[in-house]
Amino acid sequence: MSRVYNFSAGPAVLPEEVLKEAADEMLDYRGTGMSVMEMSHRSKAYDTIIKEAEADLRELMNIPDNYRVLFLQGGASQQFAMIPMNLMKNKKAAYILTGQWAKKAYQEGKIYGEAIEVASSADKTFSYIPDCSDLDIPEDVDYIYICENNTIYGTKFKTLPNTKGHTLVADVSSCFLSEPVDVEKYGVIYGGVQKNIGPAGVVIVIIREDLITEECLPGTPTMLKYKIHADEGSLYNTPPAYGIYICGKVFKWLKKQGGLESMKEYNEKKAKVLYDFLDESKLFSGTVRKEDRSLMNVPFITGNEELDAKFIKEAKAAGFENLKGHRSVGGMRASIYNAMPIEGVEKLVEFMRSFEAENA
Ligand SMILES: *Cc1c(COP(=O)(O)O)cnc(C)c1O
Repeated sequence: MSRVYNFSAGPAVLPEEVLKEAADEMLDYRGTGMSVMEMSHRSKAYDTIIKEAEADLRELMNIPDNYRVLFLQGGASQQFAMIPMNLMKNKKAAYILTGQWAKKAYQEGKIYGEAIEVASSADKTFSYIPDCSDLDIPEDVDYIYICENNTIYGTKFKTLPNTKGHTLVADVSSCFLSEPVDVEKYGVIYGGVQKNIGPAGVVIVIIREDLITEECLPGTPTMLKYKIHADEGSLYNTPPAYGIYICGKVFKWLKKQGGLESMKEYNEKKAKVLYDFLDESKLFSGTVRKEDRSLMNVPFITGNEELDAKFIKEAKAAGFENLKGHRSVGGMRASIYNAMPIEGVEKLVEFMRSFEAENA
């Protein structure tokens, strides 16, 4: 068996320890004589799995009691519709456009009401986070929407927007559990888990209780109502049971690493290795304004498309996988999520150094 250094933006690298444990339990989950995949989601064993997963997540993120945790399906993209369907009481919401995922959510929001662009960094290909300290926000918006970490462009909100008292909704797909968060600053925090937590097929929604109401926009399908899933403890229908099980293992792994404070420290140290190199390199350069750099997704270029392609090809041959930038922006991107060991980044930088020397 040989494992590569996987820099994929998602689905992405998972802790080896978690994968091994899942492999060990594949045929017989703790004396049940079956795999978690084969198990009723109403069984005693599964009840423990989903309840422990929620409890561990609550502990990791310090989630207050007046927030609910929902394990749902449909990916992050389904939330682009579910959020307005459930939250747009005044049919009006403000969106901050910092990249493609925010834009997609904004476009989806327009289907259901008045989605207003209140800030954008489109003028410089989303290479920075706009100043959101004093935005012009209409009084009657139902929420303000951000994509907190922009997976494709490699930017991250280091300070949250001044919402002027409005509900903040954040897509944290690509920075979920990478550092501590103050849950109370948000109305809704949600993310697809396939970036930093688990296998594709699960989306976690952390939502303040008062935002969960019976009234949704007319025509909202039952499956897209937060209230149904909250009332049924994420077991209204069959949940993505195996995926939630793996997420639960990752939560336990994170606790063992020392929780989110430790992850933040580790992630900062890890990202610094790569950013420091990009800042000194004569060949490679980062594409993001320094103060807005993501700890999770690091885009970079050589400035020459042919050289970029050569680099990606040679890196792959050397065991560094998935370094190609998103198809919409080109160049390279190294996603260095929680489960990427620092040695992976050190070895990548070593490889970049020798590539630079050979191609100077
Ligand atoms: C990947 C990603 C999405 C889309 O996730 P799906 O689960 O594929 O719908 C949305 N937002 C962000 C920030 C992402 O990184």
